Amino acid sequence: MHPSSLEPDSRAMREMGDLVLQHVIARTERLPSRPATNAHPPAAVADLVESFLEPPPARGGDLGDLLSRLDEAADCALETAGPGHLSYVPGGGLYTAALAEFYTRATNRYGGFALVAPALAALEESVLRWFAQGVCGLPAGSGGLMTSGGSMATFSATVAARHDRLGEDLATGTVYTCASAHHSVAKAARLAGIRAANVRTVPHTADQRMDPEATAAMIRADRAAGLRPFLLVATAGTTDTGTVDPLPALAELARAEDLWFHVDAAYGGFFALTDRGRRRLDGLAAADSITLDPHKTLFLPFGTGALVVRDPATLRAAHDGTGSYLQDIGAGGVPDPARLGPELTHEIRGLRAWLPLHLHGVDAFRAALDEKLDLAEHVHDSLSAVAGLEVPLRPDLSTVVFRVRPRDDTPAAAREADGAGRLLLERINAHQRVALSSTALDGRFTLRVCVVSHRTHHDRVTEALKIIAEEASRV
Ligand SMILES: *Cc1c(COP(=O)(O)O)cnc(C)c1O
Repeated sequence: MHPSSLEPDSRAMREMGDLVLQHVIARTERLPSRPATNAHPPAAVADLVESFLEPPPARGGDLGDLLSRLDEAADCALETAGPGHLSYVPGGGLYTAALAEFYTRATNRYGGFALVAPALAALEESVLRWFAQGVCGLPAGSGGLMTSGGSMATFSATVAARHDRLGEDLATGTVYTCASAHHSVAKAARLAGIRAANVRTVPHTADQRMDPEATAAMIRADRAAGLRPFLLVATAGTTDTGTVDPLPALAELARAEDLWFHVDAAYGGFFALTDRGRRRLDGLAAADSITLDPHKTLFLPFGTGALVVRDPATLRAAHDGTGSYLQDIGAGGVPDPARLGPELTHEIRGLRAWLPLHLHGVDAFRAALDEKLDLAEHVHDSLSAVAGLEVPLRPDLSTVVFRVRPRDDTPAAAREADGAGRLLLERINAHQRVALSSTALDGRFTLRVCVVSHRTHHDRVTEALKIIAEEASRV
């Protein structure tokens, strides 16, 4: 098919749409049998990379051919949308969100200012209010901003906190984050103009949680030294282990010391939809701002993050700006995303959450997240019974970490066990049925099973456990 026109007629649109749909459906049906890791040999990867670096041609090509090439490119990748994706936190890629996205792109409404597309702005605002109030328990009046991901959400939260608490004098402002926090917290502080030396890394306790007493001691020492502590960042679901920091104690400390309290709930936030999750995330509602990542635990496509804040006026105070070319644009009925964050032109990301939420209903997501918690508990209990492995933590959420048990408690035995752990990870992933990842925990090489894909169910987890036990008996 060779549609050279930039404005195809309805027949051409339908034919092209059908062709794309055929490829997408065939790919989705293949997901359970696709390799979980990138199975391409390095030479084949290099050839593909080379071929995709070509500039576009002057005359157009055939859509079918181009889609076949795209399939080759998509196949040459870690399978982040499949049931065996048990490594890095982002996963999913909900089909109905992709449909919403097609609709969003094709109608192409401007999302920077509410007045330009007021009802769609309200739709995005409804998603944000539900995130803030329905999921996180923030009070009426809270709201936020859809972002490209968790890192940008934490960045805007840091800028808002800085503006609110420090004004323009940044030199002595200090931030408190934990050794187990995501690196985007320190990165956001740096981008927000906070001196790297003023970003404090609080130690965690043996169970990987931010230590409130150590945090309090650091804040008081810094204040006594003439610094200005202004932001405390806790994590609700660490990337490494899914651990939830003691939010009530940290919230109380932030309140007592007059610090802005941000919670990075990029991974953990949506588990608040479940009963177990809500109990584990107790204290979340005390935050001034919260990072969420619908492209993780709401299974939406990459590029979907959210920042929710107790008082949206703080976001606006830090980010608002205008120009004479905007003088015709008055206020819409809901907040203008362009005034709450760094973007002017703003894609309406809300639709890719709104359509699945309204189509499937909240209970479908609640059930899926509950299933992930069940699966993680099952993984924990099963791996705890495997000879030769140690499982140091009971999961708060849906991540289980394990490692090879050293022969004795000497450093040499730990090194040897770490080497065996590396080999174990390699051998598990070589089966191509699941992709696990690793991290360093207490200086030990540690493997992770992170269950977040909506396509991961009991059958694939059972298979993973069988592979792990089999390979563990051989290293
Ligand atoms: C993934 C993650 C982030 C970063 O989010 P991006 O969407 O990748 O920018 C931040 N914090 C935690 C705890 C995460 O798991």
